[in-house]
Amino acid sequence: MPRTLVTGGAGFLGSHLCEYLLKQGHEVIAMDNLATGSIENIEHLQTENFKFIKYDVTEYIYIAGAVDYILHFASPASPIDYLKMPIQTLKVGSLGTHKALGLAKEKKATFLLASTSEVYGDPQIHPQKESYWGNVNPVGPRGVYDEAKRFSEALTMAYHRYHGVDTKIVRIFNTYGTRMRLGDGRAIPTFIPQALSNKPISMFGDGSQTRSFTYVDDTVEGIYRLLISDYHEPVNIGNPHEMTIRQIAEKIIQMMGSKSIIKEEPLPEDDPKVRQPDITLAREILGWEPKVDVDEGLPKTIEWFRSKLKENAFF
Ligand code: NAD
Repeated sequence: MPRTLVTGGAGFLGSHLCEYLLKQGHEVIAMDNLATGSIENIEHLQTENFKFIKYDVTEYIYIAGAVDYILHFASPASPIDYLKMPIQTLKVGSLGTHKALGLAKEKKATFLLASTSEVYGDPQIHPQKESYWGNVNPVGPRGVYDEAKRFSEALTMAYHRYHGVDTKIVRIFNTYGTRMRLGDGRAIPTFIPQALSNKPISMFGDGSQTRSFTYVDDTVEGIYRLLISDYHEPVNIGNPHEMTIRQIAEKIIQMMGSKSIIKEEPLPEDDPKVRQPDITLAREILGWEPKVDVDEGLPKTIEWFRSKLKENAFF
């Protein structure tokens, strides 16, 4: 049975990955300091093949026994979180990645880095291919996340080239689905609760900026396929179906039969104007492409938020 460490395992993507890996027959260790994640995300996974360790991965990581795979997902991921925790974000992307790679080297484990489409910054090439080097402002407020991820990619390739570690890098595009945190500031988990309570939808700018939203099950499947592949360069995982932020807000309102109006809020600094993955590489080397469109993924996410809000008596 493969033994696998997931850093950030109590987060949105990490918890879905732990669940998927358990189903694939892995023994899973989730390591997380709960900075933005929660035990609630992994409560249902408490079986003999699952273990949770509360730990900050910027410190030296020790795990007794064999480790076959390490998936490094620890990092604040939503702008609200990383703007609130700029130093922690830089530390987990740099020191945390260093510690996780060190463990992979020692255990001869396969290492997979959760990178992001944010490495492309405000892109001048559209759609974004892996060969594009990006357009990132290193000293803007978002630089703490974007540059930490760019550094973590460079460090991962150095461990691969210099130490021969079997590494993979996934550039994840905006993913949504169940277990996203209420109020984490990302578009979909902001719009759905607002629409549920018929409050104004707070949309950044005029909503003409685009994003490509991927349902979590598709993202997890793509990550797993990359993990077991023998490809070492970065691979985009995302849904090429591009929508404006206004379109996604309108779709949520219409799907929920909500009375919410759309309210324009100031556009955050360095907000990317467009975002769409070129997934030719993922199609070719992983045989992967997304299967869940927004008409299927959004209702599942809406249902989840509806039940959460009821449970927490916010609604
Ligand atoms: P999340 O905030 O739900 O999960 C991140 C997890 O990392 C949290 O559980 C948090 O507590 C943990 N963490 C943060 N710092 C830590 C530290 N020092 N030590 C141990 N644990 C720590 O976010 P997410 O959306 O699940 O993102 C997970 C990963 O995927 C991140 O690396 C993020 O950059 C990447 N990613 C996510 C998306 C997306 O759309 N969700 C897109 C691109 C990349």
